[in-house]
Amino acid sequence: MHQHTRTDPYSDRYAARAAGMVASEIRALFAVASRPEVVSLAGGMPYVAALPLDIVGDMLGDLTQRRGAEALQYASAQGDPDLRARICDVMAMEGVQGSPDDVIVTVGSQQALDLLTRIFVDPGDVVLAEAPSYVGALGTFAMYQADVVQVALDEHGLDPAALRETLETLRRDGRRVKFLYTIPTFQNPAGVTLTASRRAEILAVCASYGVLVIEDNPYGLLGFDGEPMRALRADDPDNVIYLGSFSKTFAPGFRIGWALAPHAVRAKLVLAAESAILSHSSFSQFAVREYLTTQPWMEQIKSFREMYRDRRDTMLDALAATMPEGTSWTRPAGGFFVWLTLPEGLDSKAMAPRAIANRVAYVPGTGFYAGGHGRRHMRLSYCYPEPDRIREGVRRLATVIEREIEL
Ligand code: PMP
Repeated sequence: MHQHTRTDPYSDRYAARAAGMVASEIRALFAVASRPEVVSLAGGMPYVAALPLDIVGDMLGDLTQRRGAEALQYASAQGDPDLRARICDVMAMEGVQGSPDDVIVTVGSQQALDLLTRIFVDPGDVVLAEAPSYVGALGTFAMYQADVVQVALDEHGLDPAALRETLETLRRDGRRVKFLYTIPTFQNPAGVTLTASRRAEILAVCASYGVLVIEDNPYGLLGFDGEPMRALRADDPDNVIYLGSFSKTFAPGFRIGWALAPHAVRAKLVLAAESAILSHSSFSQFAVREYLTTQPWMEQIKSFREMYRDRRDTMLDALAATMPEGTSWTRPAGGFFVWLTLPEGLDSKAMAPRAIANRVAYVPGTGFYAGGHGRRHMRLSYCYPEPDRIREGVRRLATVIEREIEL
């Protein structure tokens, strides 16, 4: 039994779903990783300091003065109609045609994950996810007592053959699969992107097994080369629920994300949201809408991309220059993360305290798997530290790995 439960005098009162709730390893790490002497390659925080904060400040002040009576009032649970229309313009850049009526604004895309799991998953239902997958989604699935089955990905994204095989096995076992949760573009944590040909295959496999797809796409506009990828939702609107967010393209502090879902699903989501939050933050919604309407937000995204590309290059160069033989890593074409594989026999979880002692932090791979796998992997993020710190952090990490090899 978990230490927590033994010492918690309320442990016999909690609902079954709360008994399985444990603090994420990442959050525990953040506390130590935030000490200034530690270079943190652990957090996935966007570099909001690069925003023109004075302009955003003026915009917020102006918004309060001009429209305060509305911006400080309750709002609907579906979200502001003008913001939903702007959200459709944003998604159009990835080939998605959606009606504002089929969009629900959510408290970050994290809330969309919560609402979707709430309306679709009964305890014991199977939810498919990539191996590895986003820790926040795995936490939500666990909260609703889903049975998470993870399917392998490689440098081209989720493997369609492995997906088909998993679905076939589950079908044979009579298991009920509720949806596939996937981050096709600039995946968190693996940093890989599903290729165009695999996109078609994944959609075909899911359609043939009657499995809904949840496409989580917070990084889609943060690609380093060329045009944004075409979203899965663009090619199968009836079977794909698309999740988006302004956390990485503007700022996570506003907590504005969204889901675009088939009409009936959207209606259920709004009912679920009403019970969860009653009303959105009108102020946050107005702020994002105002930002999209009055500010050169695409220019800002371009400058974010350049900054993150530079940091990605710094990290890849530093890894190539310092990592011992037997170490490998992914080469992300966008987003925030590199996925590193340690030489055989090394354990990223056991090594983490020694890395912290050497003043560098990363997230051990185990956080991204439902069942204790991932010990040979770690997630490194290049989004937040400045290039000099990235170089120094990777250098320290290489030293720690070398010492482990010698152990
Ligand atoms: N999905 C993925 C893949 C993420 O990386 C994140 C943020 N780390 C989220 C969802 C949640 O983001 P938010 O709630 O801020 O929109």
